[in-house]
Order: sequence, then structure tokens, then C-alpha cells
Amino acid sequence: MTATKIAYVLDFDGTITETDITSAMARHFGKDHYLECSAAYRRGEFGMKEWLARMSLFLPPDPAELLDFAEARATLRSGLKEFFEFARSRGRPLYIASDGFGLYIEPILKRHGCREHVAGIFCNRVLPGNGRLETLTPYAHRSCPVCGNCKAAHVIELQEEGYRVLYVGDGLNDRFAAAYADGIFARDHLAEACTAAGFPFQRWDDFHDLIKTDILIENNHDHKFCDPAQKGFLRDNR
Ligand SMILES: [Mg+2]
Repeated sequence: MTATKIAYVLDFDGTITETDITSAMARHFGKDHYLECSAAYRRGEFGMKEWLARMSLFLPPDPAELLDFAEARATLRSGLKEFFEFARSRGRPLYIASDGFGLYIEPILKRHGCREHVAGIFCNRVLPGNGRLETLTPYAHRSCPVCGNCKAAHVIELQEEGYRVLYVGDGLNDRFAAAYADGIFARDHLAEACTAAGFPFQRWDDFHDLIKTDILIENNHDHKFCDPAQKGFLRDNR
């Protein structure tokens, strides 16, 4: 019998790091615009893709300044290195899927000696141009307007490669990918979203919990928030 192939997909901000660095940047540089934009996002008026486009208008044009800002706030969540070793010892590849500004993920992982543990990073980019930064979303769905990075598509692609996927996250927009995962580790807003949707999930606080509790739940969620194989966003499920 072939052993089950398992892969992890992890959110970055508020999951790997204790602080949501993208939100901290937007709050710091966007000030009241951050509050207005985030309130509209929470009301469901638009998704992360639009949020990123709006908030990137207020970022300083120098990526180095943003990187300094990020690295000063980058505290890795407890147990991360032990968890990475745990995954490596079991031959489980780790992927990061982030819908933040993205530029700081690889430098932070390298600074903390963790980059080699990560098989792939799916994230947005920021590029200087016209005196400001522009956010690029290379992993956006071809037609869905909601997320900058279609995390659900990454989960589905790994499943198509034969992996059972464990999703680890904290945020509201992680629900799109979690709905497709074979097991969900959720905290904070993702835990609330999973509870509301009736998804089975494992609540986690830090990465030691992911080592202690090794779950694999059949993906039998009837309810999906989106459908990447079709047009993406399902309007009734925002
Ligand atoms: Mg997050």
C-alpha cells in the first residue's frame, strides 16, 4: 500500500509571524485610510485584491524602507523551527501562501535560517514605479476579483499531485483554501469562519500544537466559498 503523501500549506502573516505585518504596514502608512479600507473589506464590499491595491497607494516608494519595517516586527511564532523539523522528518513538503504585500517573506525566512525548509512560496510582489509601489498579484485567479493570491488553487494543485493537504492559518481570507483542505489548523478569524461554516478543524495556538496533534480529516466540506476551477468567487458565499 502506498503511504499517504501529506503537504502543508501555511499562511504567513499572523500564522508564521505573530504579527500581521501587512496590516501593520497599512495601518502605519495608511493611517485613517487603513481603517476605512479595512472596514469596507470586513463588510464584504471587496476582497484582498482590492484591499492591496488601495493600501499600496499609501506605502513609501522604497521597498528597503518597507523591509526594515517588516524585519523590525517579525517575531516567528513559537515552535516554528521544531515544526519545520517535524515536517522534514516525515517527508512532508511545506508551502507558504500569502495574500499580503509579500516582499518580506523570503528575507525573514532567510534571516531566521528557515528558508531551506520551505518547498515553495506563493506570494504577491511590490514593485516601485511612478514614485510609488505597485502590488502585483501573480497568483490571482484569472477572473475572480476577490483574492490577490488564490490560495484555494494552491491546495487543489497539490491534491492533484497526490498530496493530502493540511492548511494552517489565522485569517478570514484563509477560509477559501481551508474549505478545500484535507485537514485544517485554524486560529483567530479562521477558527471563527470554520465554526460558522461547520467545518471540522483543529484549533492551534502555536506550532508545538501542530506537532502534538497530527490530524487528517477527510475533505467532506459541502460548503465551499469559491470554485477556482470555474469563475472563482461564489457570490452567495462572500
Ligand atoms: Mg494571516
